[in-house]
Amino acid sequence: MENRRILIIEDEPAIREMVCFAMERAGFDCAQANDAEEGQACIAERAPDLILLDWMLPGISGVDLARRLKREELTRNIPIIMLTAKGEEADRIRGLDVGADDYVVKPFSPRELVARINAVLRRVSPETPEPVLEVDGLVLDSVGHWVSAKGQRLEMGPTEFRLLHFFMTHPDRVYSREQLLDRVWGRNVYVEERTVDVHIRRLRKAIEARGHDKLIQTVRGAGYRFSTRG
Ligand code: CA
Repeated sequence: MENRRILIIEDEPAIREMVCFAMERAGFDCAQANDAEEGQACIAERAPDLILLDWMLPGISGVDLARRLKREELTRNIPIIMLTAKGEEADRIRGLDVGADDYVVKPFSPRELVARINAVLRRVSPETPEPVLEVDGLVLDSVGHWVSAKGQRLEMGPTEFRLLHFFMTHPDRVYSREQLLDRVWGRNVYVEERTVDVHIRRLRKAIEARGHDKLIQTVRGAGYRFSTRG
């Protein structure tokens, strides 16, 4: 099971480093960005599971970036925790208005931040995926390494199995081909993006007998999403 990925966008290096140190000790992978532009590049490439976003950034402000991210299909469902300065109550309310999921007031303790992150992650997706995952009669056993649909065993290759496992543990969010390559194939594997389409096609075929192929949705111009919602 891979670590959850946190991205911190903050222009103060001391805070960034303190936070990343605390994140890694808590078992997260942590990436850092100095401003909104760097942050957006990192999001596109790495598909973080949660973003810590400083309110006061040079250039594009944290709140403007939050608003942008919540508008885009590809980034809408990434939870955001705003880092705000003390006493800016109005800011915090505005932050939640633009779609931030929570906020933490500076100065904060690493322990408090980790607790808030865990609370937000628990809300948006299962904390530690169960060994046996079930969606709509489609069952994946990650220990026994088998998949069944409404009681019937399904045959699929190892890549399709990993892809399905990733989707079932990351539902309702759109992932681009590049992000799927990064998260399912791994960073050091050189395959073309259309390889993703080939394996998506095979996976859909493997699970189509009971209509589960509809769970894997193509999002035009963005990528793929696993969801029970149409
Ligand atoms: Ca700042």
